[in-house]
Amino acid sequence: MSSVVLPEAEIRNTNWSSDVYAPSDDSFALVDAVKEYLLQLHSKCLLQQLPRICLEVGCGSGYVICSAALAIQCLEQQQQQQRLVQASSPQPPAAAAAGCGGGCQFFATDINPAALQAAAQTLASHQVHGVQLVQTDLVASLIPRLAGAIDLLLFNPPYVPTPDEEVQRQGIAQAWAGGVDGRRVTDRLLAQLPDLLSPQGHAFIVTVSENRPQEIISILEAQGFVASIALSRAADEESLHILHVHRP
Ligand code: SAM
Repeated sequence: MSSVVLPEAEIRNTNWSSDVYAPSDDSFALVDAVKEYLLQLHSKCLLQQLPRICLEVGCGSGYVICSAALAIQCLEQQQQQQRLVQASSPQPPAAAAAGCGGGCQFFATDINPAALQAAAQTLASHQVHGVQLVQTDLVASLIPRLAGAIDLLLFNPPYVPTPDEEVQRQGIAQAWAGGVDGRRVTDRLLAQLPDLLSPQGHAFIVTVSENRPQEIISILEAQGFVASIALSRAADEESLHILHVHRP
């Protein structure tokens, strides 16, 4: 699967538009955590649990959703090959014989229209087609369509602690300004998570130490989720913690 993932050096050296968040250590950590989760499904022979609906909230350049789509589509191909092998065996299992399966649907939102343009270019230049790009506040215009249906939700929010007024600024400031404790935008999505995730859904959310990730975990546990830190990484002037959230 590593061969399909976008090379970090290429992504870092891309000239991104100045009004779009350029993929950085947080974006790479998020992709690494998601890849590890998908590899676990592969190594534990759980490809039937591959997501059917994947949503990235706040997609920026499109690097994260593009990487996730490439990784998932690669595993779907492997799953398909396994089914063909099983179907050609003398006594095919029922599922293989029935040829069940089908691709994951991908959605990505951003509040910044320039980000959606950049994401469209990133996806097209890596031959990833069919991702639905939606300009909206968090997930507003995808509800109720995707309510309770999201199997994989990815979110790298604006997490830098700032005065609350900065959260309302337009353009690139919206990529990082997180208000008090850097939590204003994250907390709005956390409140919606129970209505978004499917019964088998998983979410990966970027936090930094100033966001108090353990407190976020407690909030998620009080909502009935299982939550943990999937990956921690020291980056320039921040400690990143990628939260992994799912139902018990
Ligand atoms: N996902 C990209 C990545 O990891 O490189 C970009 C992450 S950047 C830290 C946060 C993104 O969230 C920005 O593209 C920003 O425009 C978007 N964003 C901020 N507030 C939002 C909101 N209320 N609804 C949707 N997107 C939002």
